[in-house]
Amino acid sequence: MESLQDKAVLITGASRGIGRAIALTFAERGAKIALIARDQDALRSVQEEIYGLGGEAFHLFCDVSDEWSVKRTVEDVHAQLEAIDILINNAGVGIHGPVESYTLANWRTTLASNLTSVFLMCRAVIPIMRTQEMGRIVNISSGAGRNGIANLAAYCASKHGLMGFTESLALEVRNDGILVSTAIPGSTETQFSGRVPEYIDNRISEAGRLSPFEVAEAVASLCETNPNAWVSELVIRPLKIKQK
Ligand code: NAP
Repeated sequence: MESLQDKAVLITGASRGIGRAIALTFAERGAKIALIARDQDALRSVQEEIYGLGGEAFHLFCDVSDEWSVKRTVEDVHAQLEAIDILINNAGVGIHGPVESYTLANWRTTLASNLTSVFLMCRAVIPIMRTQEMGRIVNISSGAGRNGIANLAAYCASKHGLMGFTESLALEVRNDGILVSTAIPGSTETQFSGRVPEYIDNRISEAGRLSPFEVAEAVASLCETNPNAWVSELVIRPLKIKQK
């Protein structure tokens, strides 16, 4: 087992939801966290929560869909932490509606936020990990990356693309000591896609939906596995389904 103590970790979409829970969970285990998103107030508040736990973190504005924003962010994080041991590509958006109702802007935003963003982040971080001769990348996908879902076509397209991208990248870098994995959470209690969560701080889920902290713990365990054994996919589901 590998410890997360003192690991340099970059987490996108860390301002709320699953990304915030991953940040708090990794910080509790001693990692140094770079919190990345656009909402500076929310990021600051996650940073304060981490300080409250006695952990180490800083935050940076980054629009993960923007090439130069990603490049500058990775350079800043590398300069501050002097390493990037773990990259968690978690930021994402979902737009609901039938295909004919999407604007081209809706489509492009979904693909740019969920897929192009991961390409940009990985492209910037891989050379650093190659120099380190080690690193881990976890891309947060979804069941929508495997199955089609009515009224979520753009989201499904982005997550299916993410699955193919992740598998291909993983094969490219496996001999350089870089482990690339996909994490596939089931439905999780967050504000995703405008949802109003019933709880955000429960460590244990209620029937039918995962707590963001359960997803975070599974992702942390994935990053603690022996680096000679590559866990390529991690599927996380709530045990109990909602009774009708
Ligand atoms: P959420 O609460 O809506 O959080 C999404 C995060 O992504 C926010 O921190 C947001 O930060 C960030 N983000 C979105 N666009 C961004 C951009 N262009 N640049 C930088 N940051 C951006 O949703 P969540 O449920 O935690 O979702 C996290 C990931 O889990 C997503 O990839 C989602 O597809 C996946 N997932 C969620 C579920 C679920 O049921 N919740 C299930 C399976 C997979 P800012 O707005 O501050 O930029």
